Amino acid sequence: MRKIIDSHLHISKWGEDDFISCFDKYREKVHSINICAIPFKQSNVCNNIMVGFYKLANPDTYIHGGIELIEVPIDNMLEDMDAVTQYRELMEIGFDGIKMLEGKPTEHKRIGKNLNHPSLNSLYREMERDGTHLLMHVNDPDEFWDPDRAPDWAVKNGWAYLDGTYSSFEEIREQTIKILKDHPNLSITLAHFFFCSKEPKILEELFSLYPNFCVDLTPGGEMYVEFEKNYSYYKDFFNRYSDRLIFGTDRSYMGDEEYASWLFNVVTTFIGTDKTVKSFDNKELKGLSLTQDKIDNILFANFERRVGSSPKLMCKEKLRSYIEKYNFALTEEDKKNIEPLIKKYL
Ligand SMILES: [Zn+2]
Repeated sequence: MRKIIDSHLHISKWGEDDFISCFDKYREKVHSINICAIPFKQSNVCNNIMVGFYKLANPDTYIHGGIELIEVPIDNMLEDMDAVTQYRELMEIGFDGIKMLEGKPTEHKRIGKNLNHPSLNSLYREMERDGTHLLMHVNDPDEFWDPDRAPDWAVKNGWAYLDGTYSSFEEIREQTIKILKDHPNLSITLAHFFFCSKEPKILEELFSLYPNFCVDLTPGGEMYVEFEKNYSYYKDFFNRYSDRLIFGTDRSYMGDEEYASWLFNVVTTFIGTDKTVKSFDNKELKGLSLTQDKIDNILFANFERRVGSSPKLMCKEKLRSYIEKYNFALTEEDKKNIEPLIKKYL
């Protein structure tokens, strides 16, 4: 079996069944997975705890935790709960990196529209110094800002940014590039190709300036449509930058299993073969015919070089004290679901 690490998965809500085994079937296809906490249906605190329990039960898993911005818009963070303190706590528990969703327009608005806030800058500085990996979702496809092009499903999810209260695509991009300028050695991966598939020259420039900057290949189906339209440019691009591109699917619990399998097949066929596959626009997408070392870079080696050749060990004691300290950020439903996990695993 080909070695693959899926660098970008989520468990973002309590389900009816046991989430501890939710990726068991998928894990038969891949060498390892990285689960990223996100404040989507839950707080970051709750999601960190869930993901932490997943790793306690499945230790050969990588996990990325999220920082709970307790006071938003971020102003002065409480001293014992500031971003750097929380980062240290997560690292001690056994998290392998940090995931930020604060650049997604909805979150970006919630935190006060500033990815370069001093509290966050201190976090980037610490992580740069430690060489800790940061996976960051910034922006969304540019059509989400355009009333004529925003897709229905994005509107339904509240991801159409049409009422003038959101930062623009360009503003969020500029703030992100400033993070790189201020922290040129930060080990950072921007999810979904930094939504730059229509302007890949931006990535080429950033790759040339920042040695530890990567993007992941989790769809955004619009990326794959661009790859198909500009096939020869992108074939060359993937050859030149195979050390900066990271495989991931964004598969989630509880997601649509059939869609996730289809998507896995599209992406791995494109990266790992010379075969043709029906892509997001229902047209034929041809595989890149990369050499084995370049395929390996994308499918697992870049991730391992940045995050570690094996996942960190978990510390039960630290997870227990995290749950106690941040108990105030949990809902009654969260507490009810966490109780049996504590009994079983701690
Ligand atoms: Zn994601």
